[in-house]
Amino acid sequence: MHDDTRSPFHAYLKELHGRFRGLDAGAVADYIPELAKAAPESFGIAFATIDGHVYSTGDSTTAFSIQSVSKPFAYGGALERLGASEVLRKVGVEPTGEAFNSIVLDQQNNRPFNPMVNAGAIAVSALAEGDTHEDRIEGMRALFSGFAGRSLDIDEAVFRSEAETGHRNRAIAYLMLNTGMIDRPPEEVLDLYFRQCALRVTAEDLALMGATLANNGVNPRSGQRMLAPEHVRDVLTLMMSCGMYDYAGEWSYDVGLPAKSGVSGAVLAVLPGQLSIAIWSPPLDAIGNSVRGVATCRQISQDFGLHLFMNAASVEEVVRRIAHADRQSSLRIRNPRERDLLASHGGRIALVELQGALYFASAERMIRQLQPLAAEVDYLILDTRRLNSLDPAAEAFVDRFLAGTRDEGVEIAVAEIASRPADAAAALDRLADRNGLRRFDTADAALETYEEMLLEKIREPFDFSRFSLSTIELFKGLDDAQLKHVEAVIQPMQFEAGDRILRRGAEGHMFFVIARGTVSVLVPTGSETAMRIGCIGPGQFFGEMAVLEGGARSADIVADERTICYGLTADHLETLGHQDPRILSTILTNMAREFAGRIRRGNDIISALQ
Ligand code: GLN
Repeated sequence: MHDDTRSPFHAYLKELHGRFRGLDAGAVADYIPELAKAAPESFGIAFATIDGHVYSTGDSTTAFSIQSVSKPFAYGGALERLGASEVLRKVGVEPTGEAFNSIVLDQQNNRPFNPMVNAGAIAVSALAEGDTHEDRIEGMRALFSGFAGRSLDIDEAVFRSEAETGHRNRAIAYLMLNTGMIDRPPEEVLDLYFRQCALRVTAEDLALMGATLANNGVNPRSGQRMLAPEHVRDVLTLMMSCGMYDYAGEWSYDVGLPAKSGVSGAVLAVLPGQLSIAIWSPPLDAIGNSVRGVATCRQISQDFGLHLFMNAASVEEVVRRIAHADRQSSLRIRNPRERDLLASHGGRIALVELQGALYFASAERMIRQLQPLAAEVDYLILDTRRLNSLDPAAEAFVDRFLAGTRDEGVEIAVAEIASRPADAAAALDRLADRNGLRRFDTADAALETYEEMLLEKIREPFDFSRFSLSTIELFKGLDDAQLKHVEAVIQPMQFEAGDRILRRGAEGHMFFVIARGTVSVLVPTGSETAMRIGCIGPGQFFGEMAVLEGGARSADIVADERTICYGLTADHLETLGHQDPRILSTILTNMAREFAGRIRRGNDIISALQ
């Protein structure tokens, strides 16, 4: 368990608490007699993160009645059940600039102005679902319990106290009955509304309820989806414009977070996608907002620059790196000829490493970077190993970009889809399906495949009639007469793709020089498929170990394609040595040079792996 008392967040909350505890302006609400009993010094602060962690200090686990902080949640519940257009018929979305309990309706539609003031909230209560009044109460309680992630109950004393004295709200309800905004018995609607306001919560509960909004409608502890994202958006919008009553304008200007306050002294502010802040402290200012609550939120927003419009994050760089196969090739071991070909033509393969999140602005920037690149290459590999999300806007634009690039004849591959978070993987899968992209587990596998395709295109056809032994490294330095001797003893052989040329463990007397084609060196791994540890191509030789050491073959050698080799045995070498000792010494010197090269490459690989 994380020890919160050592966390810098906890230390910060304690500091805040210490700082504003002494602020004793304001007065505890007393128009509901039961509320007047609250201790004015009560003060709790809680932060909840979108993964459900709560930091808190002070009276953060003391219960109080939720009052108007219930309004955004009840409104969200109605949107979820009935849809926005149905709810809009009964309650508007305009700030009033009047007190929370004002008895005014919008003149044009006879509707309450918005669901964050009493009139609007009572109209929302009238939309409650359920066959009986008891069902509707239970439905309301269940809704709030879902937001809080625990079962909440109703403070009967507070409920009765308000039911007995809430005549102003009665007036509002009857006025709305008159204008047709509520079509149930007003007393029943008010009963439900007063019970909703009397739900017992703590600052920690409110923080978690806020975190459910910050987390796009999903309770971070229970995982229960409470609101669809578009309804979270609607709720937060109204909290921003109307949540702090006629202080809403100044609040948006200074604090810049959607928030809701209530007469019991609670303030709940939400930073979408990050966290929520809940404060409880009963003394209220003249507008009806908690004095310490407002001061604390204002301070937090200032300290961390949380104002939504100030925090315009700069656009993330999604393109982490661009490489081309002339500079960065796959891990496949290549012969010198292939290495040369890739060094001169590998620029036609681009490997793009993506990272972070693709959304409208970062996708725009990425596409602007990739478009000129795509115009220059034949193969484009998107390595998504570090890409964590793609939103619908990004998906739509990336889709168009990929379709256009593919139509220009570029082969496109995506690597690492399966390793991505589920939502990102699903979006990448759709993009791959729609645009016929090739999928690879790793970027290296994609690179190897495209290298092969490129090499296949550019390898010159082999003209056997013009092939001369002098072009083979092993015979470099021999003059024409000496080459004639060699030609007389060596045996040309041809293999087809898949042919096993040497078998591991077999006795061997002959080694091979490749004139054309490539072969793979395979060692068993214990599983069905052998591991390919190397690839040997034209000019290179294999099978020399068994000949030099006189032992068994150490690996299988399989032809990758049609391959032409020359075979030389130990006897052949001896014959050549008799004919002209310099033939033997030249061949052995060339062989030694090749070994030195192999060792150097091996050392390079070892140091690259460190
Ligand atoms: N129950 C309270 C009322 O209707 C809620 C008001 C509030 O918290 N601002 O008066």
